[in-house]
Amino acid sequence: MSDSQGIKGTEVRVRFAPSPTGYLHLGNARTALFNWLFARHHGGTFVLRIEDTDVERSSKESEEAILEDLRWLGLDWDEGPDVGGPHGPYRQSERRDIYQKYAQELLGKGGAYRCFCSEEELEAERRVALAAGRMPKYEGRCRLRSPEEVEELLASGRPYTIRFRVDPAQIVVEDLVRGRVSFESAFIGDFIIMRSDGEVSYNFAAVVDDAWMRITHVIRGEDHLPNTPRQLLLYKALGAEPPKFAHLSMILGPDHSPLSKRHGDVSVSYYRETGYLPEALANYLALLGWSSEKGMEIMPMEEIARQFNLKRVSKSAAIFDNAKLDWMSGNYIRKANLSRLTEMALPYLRRAGLIGEDYDSQWLEQVVAAVRAHISCFSQISREAEVFFSFDACKALANGEVRRVLSEPEALKVLEALKGELLKMERLTAEDYPKLVKALKAATGLQGRPLFHPIRAALTGKASGPELALLLPILGREECLRRLNSIIGQLER
Ligand code: GLU
Repeated sequence: MSDSQGIKGTEVRVRFAPSPTGYLHLGNARTALFNWLFARHHGGTFVLRIEDTDVERSSKESEEAILEDLRWLGLDWDEGPDVGGPHGPYRQSERRDIYQKYAQELLGKGGAYRCFCSEEELEAERRVALAAGRMPKYEGRCRLRSPEEVEELLASGRPYTIRFRVDPAQIVVEDLVRGRVSFESAFIGDFIIMRSDGEVSYNFAAVVDDAWMRITHVIRGEDHLPNTPRQLLLYKALGAEPPKFAHLSMILGPDHSPLSKRHGDVSVSYYRETGYLPEALANYLALLGWSSEKGMEIMPMEEIARQFNLKRVSKSAAIFDNAKLDWMSGNYIRKANLSRLTEMALPYLRRAGLIGEDYDSQWLEQVVAAVRAHISCFSQISREAEVFFSFDACKALANGEVRRVLSEPEALKVLEALKGELLKMERLTAEDYPKLVKALKAATGLQGRPLFHPIRAALTGKASGPELALLLPILGREECLRRLNSIIGQLER
C-alpha cells in the first residue's frame, strides 16, 4: 500500500454511484470497473449506491438494467441496494430523512440559509449578470434576511430552497490523477442543497452519503471535477473528513470528440447483445486510461486487479477503438471454453434460423471450434457458420469469385477426384482427412491453391472460410458428396 495513493493503513472504501436514468454506458462502466479494481487491489470494499433523487428521470427498470450489466461485466459489490450492508440504505430515494437532518443541522449552524427567491427573480438576476459580462451566480439576496423576515415568509407559506453559504476561499483539490487543481470560491456562489420540493441536490446528497458510507476514495469521471470544490466546502461545513479524489479522463471516440451516441451504440447492453465476451470488454475498458507497468494487454481481471494502481491512470483522454476491442475479443474467443462458447452461440444461430430446438451439441461444438478464429463477437457467427448448415449450388455459382475458381481448367478434375476418393471411403473423420489429401494430390498431381480452392468453392460456395481440415470432417462424407454432386451437376449443364 502506498501513501501517495492516500492509503494510510485504513480500509479502502470506494463506491460507484450511478443515476438510474438510462442504460449503463461504456464511460460509466469504466468508472465502475476502476473502482472495483482499486477495491480489489487493496482488499477494500466496493459500494454500489443508486443516485435516484431525480424522481422524474429515474426508473426501477434502469436500476435493474445497470445492475445486470455490471454483473455481466464480472463486477460484484460488497454493499449495495440488493445486498445491503452496514451503511444503508443504498438508494438515495430512501435516505431523504438523512439529508433533511444534515440540511437542518447546517441551517442551525448558519452554514446554510433559506432562499425565497422565485424562479423569475433568479432568471432576471442571471440575465443581468450575462448582459454585464459577468458569470451568473446567486447574488445572495436571501443571505441578508433577518430572522423576523424569514419567520414572516415561512408563515406566509412561500416556497423556499436551502442554500449553502459559500464564503471567500481558495479551494484546492489534490487529485490523485490530475494533481493539484485550485478553485476560487468567488466563482461558485451560494448553491442549493435542498430544493423547494424537499428533494436534495446532487452535491449535498453525494457528500452526505460519501461521508456516511465512510468512502475513502472517490474515483469518478472528470466531468465531476467542477463539483469537487463545492463538495469539499460541504465536508468542511459538516465537520467530516473528505475522501481522496481521483478524476478519470474522458473517453473519446475515434474522431476525438467525447464518446457518445454519435459514435454508435455505446451502451454495455449493446456489446452484450452483440455477443462480446464480458471478460474481453472488461479487459478492454481497463486499458482505457490505465496501463500495466509491464505493457501487458490481455490479462484476466484478477491480474489487472493485482497490478491496478491509480499512479498508472493517465491524465490524458482515452480513445475508444473498436478495432482493438475486436482484436481483444477475438483473442478471448479463441481461448474460451468451447462448450461455453457453443452455449453462447445458440441464440444467434437460432435467430438466424440455422438451428431449431433439436441439434447435435457435439457437432455444434465442432462448428464453433471451426469458426471461432474468424469472429470477434457472436453476432458474426451465423455469417461464418452458415456454410455448415445450408448449401445451394445455384447460389454458390452466383458468387463471381466461386464461379471464377470453378471455371479454372483443372477445377472439375479436382472435384471429380474428391468425389471418387469419398466414394471409396466409409466415413470422413478428422483422422481421415490427411489421407484424403494425400490421395487427392496423387490423383490430380496438384497441390496448394489449385487443389484446395476448387474444393472450398464447391463445398461452401464461398472463397474463404474455416480451414478445410476442420470443414470437411464436420460436413461429413455424405454431405460433402451431396454438395459435390449438385455443384458438378450445375457445372456440367
Ligand atoms: N450519480 C452521479 C453520476 O452518475 C455520480 C457522481 C459521483 O460519482 O459523484 O454521474
